[in-house]
This record gives sequence, structure tokens and C-alpha cells, in this order.
Amino acid sequence: MTPYRIAVVGCGVGGMAVATLLADAGHDVTLYERFGEPRPLGAGLLLQPTGLKVLHRLGIEAAALDMGAHIAGIDGRTTRGRKVLSLRYGQLDARLHGLGIHRGVLFRLLFDRLRRSPARLVTASEVAGIETTAKSATLRFANGAATASADLVLVADGAHSALRAQAGVRFRAPLYPWGCLWATLPDRENRFAGVLHQRFRDSRVMIGALPVGRQPDDPDGEPCVTVFWSLPARDIDAARAAGIAAFKANVLRHWPELGLPLSHLHDMDQVASATYRHVAMPRWSRERAAFLGDAAHGTSPQLGQGANMALLDAAALATAFATAPDITAALAQAEAARQGPARFYRQASHLLTPFYQSRFAPLGWLRDLAFGPLCAFPPTRDMMLSTLAGVRRGWLGTSPVNADGRPDIPMV
Ligand SMILES: Cc1cc2nc3c(=O)[nH]c(=O)nc-3n(C[C@H](O)[C@H](O)[C@H](O)COP(=O)(O)OP(=O)(O)OC[C@H]3O[C@@H](n4cnc5c(N)ncnc54)[C@H](O)[C@@H]3O)c2cc1C
Repeated sequence: MTPYRIAVVGCGVGGMAVATLLADAGHDVTLYERFGEPRPLGAGLLLQPTGLKVLHRLGIEAAALDMGAHIAGIDGRTTRGRKVLSLRYGQLDARLHGLGIHRGVLFRLLFDRLRRSPARLVTASEVAGIETTAKSATLRFANGAATASADLVLVADGAHSALRAQAGVRFRAPLYPWGCLWATLPDRENRFAGVLHQRFRDSRVMIGALPVGRQPDDPDGEPCVTVFWSLPARDIDAARAAGIAAFKANVLRHWPELGLPLSHLHDMDQVASATYRHVAMPRWSRERAAFLGDAAHGTSPQLGQGANMALLDAAALATAFATAPDITAALAQAEAARQGPARFYRQASHLLTPFYQSRFAPLGWLRDLAFGPLCAFPPTRDMMLSTLAGVRRGWLGTSPVNADGRPDIPMV
């Protein structure tokens, strides 16, 4: 395929991955980021075997494995200690596992990789508008800089994207009524190593503890754990205003074993907050603009797939641009590969979320009753495991695991 001039909006997971892969393939790529100094919020992420495959393709998987924490599965219990959810990747395939990683570490690996590619990065450039025709795209900037034109713009500006409306695509992106607070803290004795731990009290209390390995500025340092605390989005400001002592008391009341990590929490500034959107976009592209990552299919983080899906979108676009005859065909090919899996994860996450985050307590009781048997019965257990591992192609069908121990997802 002839090289194209491609503009990418957003220096997040999806934007950096797609800009790197397309620039490496010979396209003339410019990545625009609104912040002067691009940086992530400092919480942890669970990478799945699918996302790890894309990191491998980018040549940064070994460094991620070195910095992150090996995750064998999920251990979810009620706050009284009763087992609710017990899943191990190894039950699906002995070679599969997840990786807990500090967001800052993943960001730095992707950012350094982007810097080693021929892609150009333009920071402090908030894209305020996009105009497209059948042959080109024009970007307008909030800082009044001259417009930029390209053969194609790839928009990876996240779940709260302001550019969806600008580009004339059809979409819905309602906010979830619940969000979360989080903090990444030392786990000196490695007490939380090995699995993603969760504690539930019906559907109104959910606390997570994800081992994430080392901090970005401390490669020789102690292992860390990211602690998530779920709460209604409208209560986030009040919880922050109540201060650190109240926050810690709330968490410890339900999960006293978190005492040691929480002893490192002294200030509400160490705690970040997040809200999320349920993004439905029937077509991800229109003329010469295409969306990827959370901007196209944001979900609640219940299934731990958002960053993985952004990486998979980037890899699908790179594969399509390497094999399709022109831009229109490449966009259609990438979308055909990714729409089914993304739709499944969006819908599954949306269905599950009220069982973990809602004021209707009986949904939590139902979860506590049903999940044990579902985890024990092989057909439903495998459905849950393939969902966790990120390999579902849709409600029916999964990507098998190849001889190399990686999910069978085509990637050039
Ligand atoms: C609490 C929580 C826990 C999560 N846990 C997991 C997990 O365990 N596993 C997982 O896979 N995913 C998880 N996710 C989801 C994951 O964080 C996202 O899916 C992922 O970051 C999406 O990547 P993205 O590239 O689409 O967007 P983002 O990472 O949001 O990046 C968007 C970028 O675009 C920039 N930008 C925005 N607007 C403009 C503009 N107009 N002009 C220029 N730049 C712009 C932003 O500054 C940002 O740099 C979690 C999310 C939350 C909130």
C-alpha cells in the first residue's frame, strides 16, 4: 500500500500503539496530544494475554513482564471471607496468564517505543474539531494553531471524547452512575501477589487489590498493589472531601488485611478518581476519520479489557493497512475484525456492572449464590475464563491458543 499521511489524536494506550505500528510500516504519522507533558494517571491495569500479544508485537513485552506482576487469576470473596469467584487462566490453557502493571510503567514503555519509531509527536495540541471529506481530514486546534491536514485521522481521545460529535459519527456515551477511587501502594511483604483480589458486600461495596509490580521511577523497588474502592459517581467529591482518615476507615472496615498497604496512604492527593462511559458507536469510521479504543467502545472496567482492546484495535489497523488495497478497505477490514469482540465486551461489562456496582443489594446476593457454581461447572467456567483472558470473539466463539501459547489473533 502507498504510504499515507496519518494524524492520530491522543497519546494514550491506543494512540501510541497505532502511531508506532503505522509509522514503522512507512506511513507519515503525526500524533497530537492535548497535554504539554503526556502522562497517565498512576493506577494499575490488568493486561490480558491479548494485550500482551500486542506488546510482544511492539517489542516491549519482556520489559513489561519484568516490571509488572504475574497474575494467575481472580479471587473474589464476600467481606466475610466466603469465596464467590475463583478463576485461573491456567484452567483454560496452562501457558496463559495476566499481567498487573502500573499505568505509568505501561505508558513509559509505549512512549519510549513511540519515540524510537519515525512518528512525530506534537504536544500541547488539543484537537478542537475535525472536518473530513471522502479523500482527506483537517484538524483544528484549540490553541489557535494553524490547521493540519492528513489523508486520514485516527481518533484515540478516550472515553470522554469530545471529537465524536465533531466527526459526525453516530454514538451514545452515557456515564455510568458508579465510579471508583484508587491508589497504588507498596506491598512490601508481597501479601497480595499472584491474583487479582476482590471483596464484595452485596452490590454496594466492592474493593479490589491488584498486584502491579514496580513503580515507574523505582525499577529496583518494592512490589506494589493498586487498591480500588467502588462508589456512586455522585459521592466521589464528598468522599474526597471527607479526607484520608475516613477513606481508610471505610476500606479497612470491610477488609482489615489491607492495613499494611494503607499505612502508606497519608493524603487524599495519593488517591485518584475515575468515572467511565458505556460507548456505543455502530460504525467506527466516517469518510477519512476513524475511532479506536475507549472513544469507540468504552466500557466499565469490570472485565479489565479496555487497554487490551485499545491495543488490539491498533494491531488490527496495522494489519489492515499492511494487507488492504486502500484506506477505505483498510478501515472496513479493521472494523470487521474488531467490532464483534468489542461489542461482546461492551455488552458483557454493561450486563455485569450492576451486580458489582449498584444500590440494588439483591443483585449482589444473586452474584454470590450463582458465581461459585458457575466457576465450578466446566462449560460456564470456560466461558468466564475466555472472557477474562480477552479471547472472546463474541457471545459465541473464542480465539484458540496457538502453538506459541498466544491467542490466535492475526497480526502483521
Ligand atoms: C478504574 C479503571 C480501571 C481500569 N482497569 C483496567 C484494566 O485492568 N485493564 C484494562 O485493560 N483496562 C482497564 N481500564 C480501561 C483503560 O484505562 C482504558 O480502556 C484505556 O486507557 C483506553 O485507552 P485509550 O487509548 O482509548 O484512551 P486513553 O488512555 O484515555 O487516552 C486518551 C488520550 O487522548 C488525549 N486527548 C483527549 N482529548 C484530546 C484532544 N481533543 N486532543 C488531543 N488529545 C486528546 C488524552 O489526554 C489522553 O492522553 C480501566 C479504567 C478505569 C477507569
